[in-house]
Amino acid sequence: MNNAKRPAVQRLALLRFVVVPLAAWVLVKPVRVLAPGLVGIACGAEAPVCVDDPQRLQAANALHAEAVAFVSNTIAPLQRPPRVIFCSTNACADSFGLGARSAVTIANWGIVIGPRAWKPYYVRHELIHVLQGQRLGVMRRLFMPTWFVEGMAYGLSLDPRAPLAEPWEAHRVRFNAWAARIPRDQWWQEAGKL
Ligand SMILES: [Zn+2]
Repeated sequence: MNNAKRPAVQRLALLRFVVVPLAAWVLVKPVRVLAPGLVGIACGAEAPVCVDDPQRLQAANALHAEAVAFVSNTIAPLQRPPRVIFCSTNACADSFGLGARSAVTIANWGIVIGPRAWKPYYVRHELIHVLQGQRLGVMRRLFMPTWFVEGMAYGLSLDPRAPLAEPWEAHRVRFNAWAARIPRDQWWQEAGKL
């Protein structure tokens, strides 16, 4: 490296390691699932479960354990259960940019469960999205048909709401029809062709 280039390299390094992460932190709230402690969320030492209200840690752990076992036993084993942040307040949910959504899966980094979503089928739904990312790839999942991605999550989580608001009900019906004619051991292979 010659001296003339060094300032440009330093500027680039500043941009890459300081400015961009800082901007992502401030502007892209979902990135905060990577370090929830920085927004006052406590994570358990063993299970990858985080809560804003420590008194609800036991309830969050139970929902997490049930959903991991359910998805692993009824669909396919999760390679590594992701971090799940359970928010009991809208302020906590807002700090992760949840908006109008009840819950969200952010890449395969983690899941944020909002105050309305402390129910087994919501946690299973989001874990199914993580499983899709693990089996198909996070980028691939983004470009897969919504009827498959969401229909699978609504259908296999045993979401009791019937009918769901559209378009989710139509997605669930279409996925269930697909799943009925494809043998389960070929799901991921066939999904890759969609
Ligand atoms: Zn979903």
